Parts: sequence; structure tokens; C-alpha cells
Amino acid sequence: MKKNCLEIVRQKCENCNGCALANSRSNIVFGDGDASTARIVLIGEAPGEMEDETGRPFVGKAGQLLNDFLAEAGISRDKDLYVINTVKCRPPENRVPTDEEKAACRKFLDAQIDIIKPDAIVLCGATALKSFVNLDKKQTISKVRGKWMTVTVDGVDYKAITIFHPSYLLRNSSMEEGSPRRLMQEDLKNIKETILPDVNNVFSANNLTFNSLASV
Ligand code: SF4
Repeated sequence: MKKNCLEIVRQKCENCNGCALANSRSNIVFGDGDASTARIVLIGEAPGEMEDETGRPFVGKAGQLLNDFLAEAGISRDKDLYVINTVKCRPPENRVPTDEEKAACRKFLDAQIDIIKPDAIVLCGATALKSFVNLDKKQTISKVRGKWMTVTVDGVDYKAITIFHPSYLLRNSSMEEGSPRRLMQEDLKNIKETILPDVNNVFSANNLTFNSLASV
């Protein structure tokens, strides 16, 4: 059921010309994961070069590093996560997507969350965080990360948490106490213990209503 609904949205996304990013994409990067078992939606920034080529999110060096951290925490990317980005098409030169591009693409992101109805949303990096939270000047991702909060999508409240983007960790290789990589380990351990405490990964039955499909 969820897979069928996502496929409907994916087909609409494939034909989307909702913003200028449609002109330079090779492929849309819709999402990745098993929607029937995923209890967490992880939201990154935007597709990069390899993602644009393959149509899959987080497949470059940053994606591999994320996979390694997830595996270490006992979180299955294939079963526990559904991975998406704030925009489905690659911004030129890997620049950060604009607010206008994110707004144009938001209907797809909201529909994916609405269909999956995850137990938690993981905001991976500042771009994803700012798509859901209005930060004041004193708030930075370093201060916000690791703290559970609530975000609302289509009138439904979701438990959410922010983690560093793996691209940031590629530039910070230290594993010392308090380093970004150590904090990433702590945050993923927190997510595992809070959302996926069951070792057998028995997934919960979610209430299936697809409010946002009609708006895509
Ligand atoms: S980024 Fe989103 S809104 Fe823009 S063209 Fe791609 S699918 Fe459409």
C-alpha cells in the first residue's frame, strides 16, 4: 500500500518542472528504503553528482560514511530508514538549494512523510533542519543537534531530531571526545535506543491515511 502510493508520487515527481532544477537534472532522486518497514525518515540536503547519476540519495563518499555510522549504531539503512532530500533534483555545482526550490519541492517531501508516517524524522544537516525549524541567530546546528523536538507535517506531529550531515564529518575526521564524529555516534545511539529499541526490528503498524497525495 505505502509502496504503491509512493510510486504514484514518484511518477509525478519524475515529470515535475516545478523549479529551474528540472533543467539540469539527469535523474530525479526520489527516495531510498523499504517503505513497508522504515520507521524513520532521514532527510538530507540535495542530490550531488553521483546521486544525480544513479537516482539514489547518499551514494557518494558522504553516503558511505553515513552508512558506516548507521551500521555501527545498529540501524539498518535498508530496513529502518527511508532516505530523502529537501529537493529531488541536483542543484548546479552542488550549491545549497534556494528557499524557492525547497518550497517548490516541499509537496513531494510532505507526501512521502505522510505516506510513510514514520515514528521519527531525522533532519540530517542544516538545510534539512531549516526546512522545518525557524532558527534564531543564536541557534546553530551544533546547539540544536541531538535534541528531540516535534515537527508538524500536514497537521500530524512527528518526533524529530537533528544530526550532522556526513559531508561535515568528512571534513572533520577527529574521534576525540566532543568532536562532530563522536557526537554523531551519540546521536545515532540515542535514535536507536529511542525509536528502535527492539533488537529484532519488529516494525509498528501505523495509521494509514494519505492526506497529502491529492496535493501532489
Ligand atoms: S527540485 Fe523538486 S520542484 Fe524542482 S523540478 Fe525537481 S522535483 Fe520539481
